[in-house]
Amino acid sequence: MTGADILVIGGGIAGLSAAAALSGHGRVLVLEAEEQVGYHSSGRSATMLHYFLGDRLVRALTLASRGFIENPPDGFSDVPLGRSMPVLIHAREDEREVLDLLETEIRQFADLDRLDAAGVHEICPLLREDAVHGLVDRNAIRLDAHAMLQGNLRQLRNRGGELHSGTRVSQIERTGSSWKVTSETGATFTAPIVVNAAGSWADEVARLAGVQPLGLEPKRRTIITFDAPAGVDLDRLPFAKTIGDELYFAPESGRLFASPMDEVPSEPMDAQPDEYEVALAAHRMEERTTVQVRQIHSKWAGLRTFTADRHPAVGFAAEAEGFFWLAGQGGFGLQTSPAMAAIAESLIAGTPWPVPDVSSEALDPVRFTRQAA
Ligand SMILES: Cc1cc2nc3c(=O)[nH]c(=O)nc-3n(C[C@H](O)[C@H](O)[C@H](O)COP(=O)(O)OP(=O)(O)OC[C@H]3O[C@@H](n4cnc5c(N)ncnc54)[C@H](O)[C@@H]3O)c2cc1C
Repeated sequence: MTGADILVIGGGIAGLSAAAALSGHGRVLVLEAEEQVGYHSSGRSATMLHYFLGDRLVRALTLASRGFIENPPDGFSDVPLGRSMPVLIHAREDEREVLDLLETEIRQFADLDRLDAAGVHEICPLLREDAVHGLVDRNAIRLDAHAMLQGNLRQLRNRGGELHSGTRVSQIERTGSSWKVTSETGATFTAPIVVNAAGSWADEVARLAGVQPLGLEPKRRTIITFDAPAGVDLDRLPFAKTIGDELYFAPESGRLFASPMDEVPSEPMDAQPDEYEVALAAHRMEERTTVQVRQIHSKWAGLRTFTADRHPAVGFAAEAEGFFWLAGQGGFGLQTSPAMAAIAESLIAGTPWPVPDVSSEALDPVRFTRQAA
């Protein structure tokens, strides 16, 4: 039986970043089912930080995370956690008003350039002629998910914390003032606080502990990679997204990647790409750009897990002392992870509240269980 102050279930970006932050306050163990960290959603994302994702609350969490990503603490990582990449939102003539509304909203968070047709095609020559309006954030960031995961792991270990990989939690029980957590292989761990950062499995982990689930909804998203046309300067291309949730694409390791922005409901699982969404990605790429997708080089899918209001759930469960939720990071879990970790640290260790524009009530998981009760 291994004792600790805090057990974190889940070694994705949510669990590792919270564990790293909390390891300054006590002994923290991360229990991860897979042999490697970031095997599920955190290793399958589009790795962007930008403000066109989610709503005002998500943007505030993103803004609050940016400083950490640009200037991580000393010794956190030997490599930058991201590099500058512009994000272009493009629109057809009949989508102009929607772009106007988006511009008003996003200007509160980022400096934007409004582009006409010539400007849109200058920054992204691959788009078809019907892309005649654009908004560009030239200060968006292409994140390095590996560096973020490893940086948090390094900080955790430097502060005496531990990662237990290959440790799938299968039993959770409250004994006195502690939680006793048992893995499939029979290893046991105890601590007064359990952080549920199990991503798509967070409701399942809650059920193991006898805690009311939040009704989390995992949704599959697909990405394909393929060759760019000859002569395209990939280093200059932006992350380009349609104003509606139809298509995004960007340079990826000497090729292009694209997603049809699918949101297919799924059970928690090792998500695999479905042929329909793979074909849809290629079709939409050819519909909205001049690129011919001749051969798909690679493809993958991952789960983006949402709460009913699409805001994350961070805080203690009402009915189970010491059971802490860190779930529902949807499609923005990498770019908001520093702020989310700081929020978890504040609620668990009592450090100052780190994001003044977001209230703890807005994130409180009790908002879902209260309704259901
Ligand atoms: C295609 C795609 C594109 C995306 N693009 C972006 C983007 O551009 N920017 C952005 O910020 N975000 C993006 N996201 C979202 C982001 O990837 C997620 O929000 C984030 O990775 C969620 O992190 P997590 O740690 O909660 O989940 P995960 O990374 O899934 O980690 C949860 C971990 O819990 C473990 N676990 C589960 N059950 C147990 C158990 N019983 N015992 C032990 N361990 C357990 C799992 O093995 C897993 O490793 C994208 C996601 C996808 C799929």
